[in-house]
Amino acid sequence: MYVLGLDVGSASSKVVILDDDKNIVSFSTVQVGTGSTGPARALEEVFKKTNGLKIEDMTKIVATGYGRYAFEKADKQISEISCHAKGIFHLVPTARTIIDIGGQDAKAIRLDSRGAVSQFFMNDKCAAGTGRFLDVMARVLEIEITDMAEYDSRASEVVNVSSTCTVFAESEVISHLSNNIPKENIIAGIHASVASKACGLAYRTGLEDDIVMGGGVAQNAGVVRAISRELRRPVIVAPNPQITGALGAALFAYDEAKKH
Ligand code: ADP
Repeated sequence: MYVLGLDVGSASSKVVILDDDKNIVSFSTVQVGTGSTGPARALEEVFKKTNGLKIEDMTKIVATGYGRYAFEKADKQISEISCHAKGIFHLVPTARTIIDIGGQDAKAIRLDSRGAVSQFFMNDKCAAGTGRFLDVMARVLEIEITDMAEYDSRASEVVNVSSTCTVFAESEVISHLSNNIPKENIIAGIHASVASKACGLAYRTGLEDDIVMGGGVAQNAGVVRAISRELRRPVIVAPNPQITGALGAALFAYDEAKKH
């Protein structure tokens, strides 16, 4: 028996296939999300990595993410909050606080000891504090998003990026660049700004340990360090954090398949 979870996000499309023992048989990530060829490409890629599995071989399919209703082949659609919680709790059963930063939102989720969501807080109104903010800044700084963490690790100082608006913060960064402030220090300031917004959400959950990060931005070790510094607590990064929502969707598909 095989089941599939698809997470159609704003910035990326992720797919996970599980077998009867809840092992990940295959997964894929394509760095474009809803409204693009991303979901179709992620599906094509995930099956390519298997020994001839096809979509018809999937007993149940669950879709999640911002674009979850655009995929007609799903048996069910489930919210990102539930799927991230399910995926992360499966990987890290000691997780009680989840910080998930994606392409266009940031969430803090509180779990009980059985992994049920007891509370969540979300910023989906503003790009500041999300992956989009980091993508805009990487473009202004003319560096790859994947190099941000390394620059951050070489910073000698954390420059203040105080604007709460992405457009104004972009002007602030341009002004720092024209004042010859090293990119390393500006990037540390950008990461501190994202961290402070995520921590604002996380504090509202009561901040019980363990604190676990998921979502694409958890791959940026600079943001993870900045969050840990601000919370004065260790932060665990979920293994393969960008696919935790798709994994949660696949686990819901598994439960559905076992019901019948
Ligand atoms: P969504 O689910 O909303 O589509 P993701 O959880 O995939 O979003 O997160 C996307 C964000 O993750 C991007 O905007 C980018 O800032 C960040 N990101 C993606 N890949 C990497 C990477 N390899 N290193 C650092 N940051 C990354």
